[in-house]
Amino acid sequence: MKPAETEREIVVALVGNPNVGKSTLFNALTGLHQHTGNWPGKTVEVAQGTYRYKGRSYVLVDLPGTYSLLSQSEEERIAAEFLLSKKADCTLILGDATCLARNLTLALQVMQMTDHCVLCVNLLDEARRRHIDVDLRMLSNRLGVPVVGTSASRGAGLDHVKEAIRNMAEGFSVSHPLHVLEEGEAAYAGTAEHVSDRVATRFVHRAEEIASAVVQGDVVPRMGWLDRITLGRWSGRFLMVALLLLVFWLTMFGANIPSQWLEAAFAELGTLLARGARELSLPGWLSGILLDGAYETATQVVAVMLPPMAIFFPLFSLLEDLGYLPRAAFLMDHSFAKCGGCGKQVLTMAMGFGCNAAGVTGCRIIASPRERLIAILTNALVPCNGRFPAMIVLISLFFSQNGFLAAEILTAFVLLSVWMTLMASAVLSKTAVRKQSSHMVLEIPPFRKPRVGRILLRSLLDRTAKITARAISVAAPAGMVIWVLEHWEVGGASVLAHVAAALEPVGAFLGMSGVILAAFLLSFPANELLLPMVVTLLNGAAHLAEEAGSGLAALLFANGWTWKTALCTILFLMFHWPCATTCLTIRKETGSWRWTLVAMAVPTTIGMALCALVARI
Ligand code: GDP
Repeated sequence: MKPAETEREIVVALVGNPNVGKSTLFNALTGLHQHTGNWPGKTVEVAQGTYRYKGRSYVLVDLPGTYSLLSQSEEERIAAEFLLSKKADCTLILGDATCLARNLTLALQVMQMTDHCVLCVNLLDEARRRHIDVDLRMLSNRLGVPVVGTSASRGAGLDHVKEAIRNMAEGFSVSHPLHVLEEGEAAYAGTAEHVSDRVATRFVHRAEEIASAVVQGDVVPRMGWLDRITLGRWSGRFLMVALLLLVFWLTMFGANIPSQWLEAAFAELGTLLARGARELSLPGWLSGILLDGAYETATQVVAVMLPPMAIFFPLFSLLEDLGYLPRAAFLMDHSFAKCGGCGKQVLTMAMGFGCNAAGVTGCRIIASPRERLIAILTNALVPCNGRFPAMIVLISLFFSQNGFLAAEILTAFVLLSVWMTLMASAVLSKTAVRKQSSHMVLEIPPFRKPRVGRILLRSLLDRTAKITARAISVAAPAGMVIWVLEHWEVGGASVLAHVAAALEPVGAFLGMSGVILAAFLLSFPANELLLPMVVTLLNGAAHLAEEAGSGLAALLFANGWTWKTALCTILFLMFHWPCATTCLTIRKETGSWRWTLVAMAVPTTIGMALCALVARI
C-alpha cells in the first residue's frame, strides 16, 4: 500500500431505523470527537465523528434514521443520496435485534445500493432479556455481508464493530451482498418516484423470510403492565393529562422563582453598570441606549424566557428518553389526525405554553414533514409564558377580582387557544401545506432507562442556550431602537407617540387603540414587553414595576379602557404574530422565510378577525 493511501481517512456511513441505538453507538465509537451541523441546504442534521483504530483514522457519518430509502421524506433522500454517491468506504447498517424483520428491510435496500456493508445487530441485551435469539452467523450467510452483534449502551461488542469495518474498508474481507432486485429493476437509484409498491414489498417479504429463519423466540412484544396503564384508553389519557399538568405546573410556577432571582440579579448588575456609566461620565443618550435600551430589554427577556426553557427542555427530554412521549403521541394521534396533525403535536403545544421558540424547536420530534410543518406554523397559537402574566393581570383587573373565577376564565382562554390550533391545523393541512409529503410511522419503543447526563447536556446546551442566545441577539438591538423612538422628539412629541397616533384608526377598528397596537409592534422582541410598553406609551417614562396593581388599573381606566378593550387586547395577545425569537427559530427550523411569513400571518389573521368581531358587538 502506498504511504499516501495510509494517511487517508476511511469514511464510514452509519444507517439504521430510528431508535435502534445509532446515536449511542456513534457516541461510543467517537467519544468527544464529533460535531453536528446541517446537511448543505437542508434542515436535517448531520453528525460526523472520528475515531482511530489500528493506526488509521475513521470518519463516521451518522445518516438520518429512516425506515426505508424508497419514499420521499427528506431524511430518506439524504441517506439514499449519500450512499449512492459512493463517498463512504464502508457502510455500517445498524439493526435492532428485537425487531429484526423491519430492520432487515432497510438493510436489504442499503445492500442494493452499495457493496461494502457490515450489519451490526444491536440491542442484543434487550433481545436476550426477552428470550429472543438471533443466529448471527446464519444471518451473515444469508445476507452475504459480515454481521456483528452489540449492546451499544453497555459498550459491548464495539471492538468487533471496529474490526469488521477495518476488514471491509481495507479489503481484508469480501462481501457479496444479497440483491433483492434484478439488474434491470435496480435502476431506481434511490429516487422515490420510480419505485413501485410492488418493488418495495419485495424488500419487506425477503426481510421477513430471512428474519423468520434466523430469529428464534417471541418477537411480538408482550404488553407489560406499564404499557397497559400508559396505553389504556382511560388510564392512559388520565396519566397523560396528569403528566402534562405536572410539567406545565413545574414550568409555570417553578420558573417564577428563578425568574425573580434573575430579575433581581440583573437589576443589581444594572445599578452597578449605571454607576460605572456615571463614573465614566458617558453622555446621557449613550447610557440611555445601552442601559435602559439594550441591557434592560435583553435582561428582561432572558429573565422571563430562560427559566421555563431550562425546566421544560430537560423534563421533555427525560420523557422522550424514557420512551413515554411516543405513548402520549399514540393516545392523541387519532384526534389530531382528524385535523391533519399528529399526536406528537400535543407535546409541542405543551412546550409552546412554556415558550413558543422552544415549542417550534421541539417539533423536531415529529418525523413527517407535513405534520411537522403544521405543528410549527400553529405553535404560536398557544400562549407562552411571556404572555400569561399580562393575560392574568388584565383578567383580574377587568373581569374578576375573585382568584378562582379568574383562573376559570384563564382556562377558557387556554381552551380557546387549543381549539384554534386544531382548527388552524385542519385548514392548513387542506391548503398551504397540502403538497408536503406525509409519512407517519408511529413506533412504540420499549421503556428504557433515561441517560440523565446526556439529557441535561443536550437540552440545556443544545436547545436552551441556543434559543437564549438568539433571544438576546434580537432583544438587545430592538431595545436600543425602542429607546431611541421613545426619546426622539419631533414636533413636541416622541416618534413613538406619532406612531401610536397614526395607528389609532386600525387600533380602534380592532377594539383597541393606536397606543395598544403600537405596544404590540414594539413588543415584537418579546411578548412580555407588552404591558410595560402600554404603560410607557400612556404616561411617558413610568415602568410597570412601579405601576403594578391599582396604579395600572387607574392608568388604564383614565385612558378609557373598558372590558371590551381588555378582551380585545387579551385576544390579540393570544393571537398575533409570534415574537422575534420564535420567528427566527421558525426560519431556522423550516429553512424558509416564506413559511415564517405564513406562521406570522396565521395567528394575526385569527386575532384580527376575533377582535373586529368583539369590537362590533
Ligand atoms: P437512535 O434513535 O438510533 O439514535 O437511538 P439512540 O442511540 O438514541 O438509542 C435509543 C435508546 O436505546 C436509548 O434509550 C438508548 O439508551 C437505548 N439503547 C441503545 N443501544 C442499546 C443497547 O444495546 N441495549 C439497550 N438495552 N438499550 C440500548
